[in-house]
Amino acid sequence: MDDCIFCKIVKGELGTKFEKETENLVVFKDINPQAAIHLLIVPKLHVKDLGELDDKVWKEVKDLVVIMGREKGAKGFRLIHNSGDAASITHLQVHFLADIAPERAE
Ligand SMILES: [Zn+2]
Repeated sequence: MDDCIFCKIVKGELGTKFEKETENLVVFKDINPQAAIHLLIVPKLHVKDLGELDDKVWKEVKDLVVIMGREKGAKGFRLIHNSGDAASITHLQVHFLADIAPERAE
């Protein structure tokens, strides 16, 4: 997918800072955050939707989210996945949203 913005980000063409990187995933900040912490979890391979996502990679998403939830010091978090026409970009993304716990807030 030559014109896919997420493929460009994954390849480092846009100079995006990765918050995390695993074998098959990268994590970076949403440019239009809807919470104190709003990160996108994106597979390195161009995958259109959950139906195309390898089970191994989905497990990797789950494991990563659990770690992120602990590390970010959030009270809890929300995951959002838009699919089909609900997705603005046709490269699978999972949104991780969290507000910082009061005791950690500046
Ligand atoms: Zn892509």
